[in-house]
Amino acid sequence: MNQNIRCTVADCHYWASGNMCAANQILVTTDNVAAVAPPQIDANMAHAIAPTAAGLSMATACKTYVQRGSNQALANNVVGISNSGFRFI
Ligand code: SF4
Repeated sequence: MNQNIRCTVADCHYWASGNMCAANQILVTTDNVAAVAPPQIDANMAHAIAPTAAGLSMATACKTYVQRGSNQALANNVVGISNSGFRFI
């Protein structure tokens, strides 16, 4: 991992022990955007997404979240990197 994102969402495909995020990039947006954007809209497309305002931390969401075991991990073009440097999709 070459970033230092801490996360406690343990059922996420990118979650790693020690409450680490192993995704090479993530997209944080508002709940409203995350609720309607398709899986293909993620960190690699952040340049094309209009900035938004949340007002409260509880109105923000990690758009990169994918439930562990889901087949949606292939859709967002985000790569996970383990502590040993192994890359996983
Ligand atoms: S992708 Fe988001 S929800 Fe998943 S481990 Fe990383 S920060 Fe947490």
